[in-house]
Parts: sequence; C-alpha cells; structure tokens
Amino acid sequence: MNSKGRLILFSGPSGVGKDTLLELLYKKRPDLVHSVSATTRNRRENEIHGKDYYFISKEDFELMIQSGNILEYTQYGVNLYGTPKRPIDDWLAEGKTIILKIEVHGAKQIKKLYKNAVSIFILPPSIEVLEQRLRKRGTENEADLKKRMEIALSEIEKSKDYDYVIYNDNLETAVDEIIGILNKN
Ligand code: 5GP
Repeated sequence: MNSKGRLILFSGPSGVGKDTLLELLYKKRPDLVHSVSATTRNRRENEIHGKDYYFISKEDFELMIQSGNILEYTQYGVNLYGTPKRPIDDWLAEGKTIILKIEVHGAKQIKKLYKNAVSIFILPPSIEVLEQRLRKRGTENEADLKKRMEIALSEIEKSKDYDYVIYNDNLETAVDEIIGILNKN
C-alpha cells in the first residue's frame, strides 16, 4: 500500500504548541509535506482555508465520508476533523514523508491502516503550563477551554501508545528531536 512514502503522526493536547513546532520543522526540512485536514470547526482569525484546514460544513464533511474521500475522521469536542485521502495516496506513491497533525483516535485508525507509520506525541512541560498556554492563546471560550483541558488529560494518558514522546519545553530542542526521529526511521 505504502511502498515508498511514509506517514508521521503528530499528536499532542490542544495548546501544547504543535503548530509552532511544525512551522519550525518545515523550515528545517522543506522536503516534508503537510496533510491539510478538513474540519467543521469555525476558522480562527489567523487561519487560512486550504493551508491550516479546509473549513467545510457538516453536510460537505458527510459527503466526503460517503464518497470515500476521508481516510479517517473523528469528532473532537463538537466538531468533526478528518484526513482527505487522495493527497495521501498521491504523496505516498511519490515517496514523500507526510506529516499528519491528528488526535489520538485518528492516529490509532491510521496505525491500523499503515503499519509503518511513525507516531510522535508532544507533551507539555506540565498540565499547568498547558492550561496557561491555552488561556493565553485566547481562541476558545471558557466552556470550550474546559472541554479541551478534559480531552487533553485523556489524550496524555494515551501517549504511552505512541512510538515516541517529546516534551515541548524548548522549541529548538523539541524540533531537533523530531528531526532525529525522522532520520532514524
Ligand atoms: P484544533 O481545533 O485545535 O485545530 O484541533 C483539535 C484537534 O484535532 C487536534 O488534536 C488536532 O491534532 C486534531 N486534528 C486535526 N486534524 C485532524 C484530522 O484530520 N483527523 C483527526 N483525527 N484529528 C485531527
């Protein structure tokens, strides 16, 4: 199925700094490709359709599922998130290393489909720091924030199922650790 390319699954609780890590990673490794997910969540002010996500309606998301164009999907909070299938197939055939930013259930689904996918979980220095970062970001209301912290705790539990765990207390060090993993696998 994936004879040439490979998938790197990148998970971590909301607010842990995945986007910042990935931004620096892509600067250092421009050969990597990023899978843009589809979501029914509202676009945040700084986000760009087609770059950060494909922001689509619930109806369109369901159509994508029905037509087999979603490789995996999950509900996170009240919203749906999923990985479009076609770009993944194309990139794998081209031998690319593909980064998927994905929560724990999605990562599990992908691991079943692609046995050689490498999974990396990003941990915050502490739960307190995570909550502070999420509050500072200011993109969620109090109810959403509480929900995200609840999900975060249950996700952190599942970090033990990942191939690698990285603490994000220093951006440069964390990115270098990720590059080390990519070079090793
Ligand atoms: P956020 O709303 O903070 O952008 O994302 C919420 C969660 O959904 C994050 O843990 C993120 O990694 C995850 N996520 C983003 N895209 C996908 C996807 O395509 N599939 C799955 N399963 N999770 C995703």
